[in-house]
Amino acid sequence: MKIKQIFTNKDDGNIAYHVSNNVEEVNQNRRTLAQKYGFDISTMRSMEQTHGNNVHIITQDSPLLIKDCDALITTLPNITLMVMVADCIPILLKDEKKSVIAAIHAGRNSTFLQIAHKTASVMIEQLGCLPQDISATLGPSIQSCCYEVSPELAHIVIQSFGKAFVKGRNIDLQGINTMQFRRLGMTQITQSPICTKCSNANFYSYRLNKECGRFAGLITIEE
Ligand SMILES: [Zn+2]
Repeated sequence: MKIKQIFTNKDDGNIAYHVSNNVEEVNQNRRTLAQKYGFDISTMRSMEQTHGNNVHIITQDSPLLIKDCDALITTLPNITLMVMVADCIPILLKDEKKSVIAAIHAGRNSTFLQIAHKTASVMIEQLGCLPQDISATLGPSIQSCCYEVSPELAHIVIQSFGKAFVKGRNIDLQGINTMQFRRLGMTQITQSPICTKCSNANFYSYRLNKECGRFAGLITIEE
């Protein structure tokens, strides 16, 4: 058993139907990336992401598109979980000992609703994972260098999470998600250094271009 995870980039094209008017292009992009990275697209599960904190455990009977959901978990091999983003944080979780994986869509609202904490808690409480065995990867996303919000919102973040996550009007969503994992006792947390808005890297950024596509985080348990 091996767990494989990757983040796609602009070279892989837009993989989201909801920001495209060309279904066949998205189909083709998904087929190409599945082949390139060795994922089975026929069993891939994706989310109708709603910036909430609903967490869904995937079984063999789950539909391919999970409605009103921002985090997927599975213990099943050969089922790829996908999260789509352009600035929001794609977070992939894995526990190789228990063979459990998760994909989280952590935008601002979901971060405030503690989706990272909620997802890892399901892995711990319902699926028997130990916090120290769960590793988290925060993928390319807009970082505090570019994530300026209103003074009111910056104030709310200070009140809710603490001063450490706010500099002026810029907030650190990666830090807030990391704190949620650490509070559960998780220690294996890595964060991509790439800011999707200013790193001039090969990733879509909604704040840079509202018409942009989406890239993906993909994770699967290979048997
Ligand atoms: Zn930046």
